[in-house]
Amino acid sequence: MKIFCVGRNYIDHAKELGNAVPEEPVIFMKPKSALLQTNTPFYYPAFTNELHYEVEIVLRICKNGRSIQENAASQFYNAYSLGIDFTARDIQGELKKKGLPWEKAKAWDNSAFISNKFVELNEANLKSPILFSLKQNEKIVQSGNTKDMIFSFNQIVSHISMYFSLNIGDLVYTGTPAGVGECLPGDKLEGFIGEEAFFNLDIK
Ligand code: MG
Repeated sequence: MKIFCVGRNYIDHAKELGNAVPEEPVIFMKPKSALLQTNTPFYYPAFTNELHYEVEIVLRICKNGRSIQENAASQFYNAYSLGIDFTARDIQGELKKKGLPWEKAKAWDNSAFISNKFVELNEANLKSPILFSLKQNEKIVQSGNTKDMIFSFNQIVSHISMYFSLNIGDLVYTGTPAGVGECLPGDKLEGFIGEEAFFNLDIK
């Protein structure tokens, strides 16, 4: 399975990190070893001094395909969940300055956390906006609404499929809203879709 991620998909988040609003989706990938599922402990990585959370809606790919047109893209995902695209922001800053690839900042082991709860998509809820949020130590630090995405789920899936084949079980992290920030050992992160709790993760 592959893990795709979209960068800078919410205007307010692009701005908070001083990035331009992209003209096409910014895509990067994490390896399978990055995946961390609920009930597995998360340990603060030794190589960073600035670990950031980025809460994101994650799509689950349900059909193999490539070169998918935008108007057909919704057939290729059938559920979503909530995850965190953990980022070593200090390392990313250094790599960005040098124009180097981001893997050491974004694709390390356990950097792609995901809840084990999924919401199945159907005709009734496919186009509904999804509200989601992240609490850090019981305080809301990020809240997003998928209607504010620069590129829609269909645009993202179509765009990715022009370059990479999509396979059943692949995941797509669809971008983070504004409010990213640092987390420290001892922090408690809780993710919500609407009012419903999707995960509870302790940083060790
Ligand atoms: Mg992200």
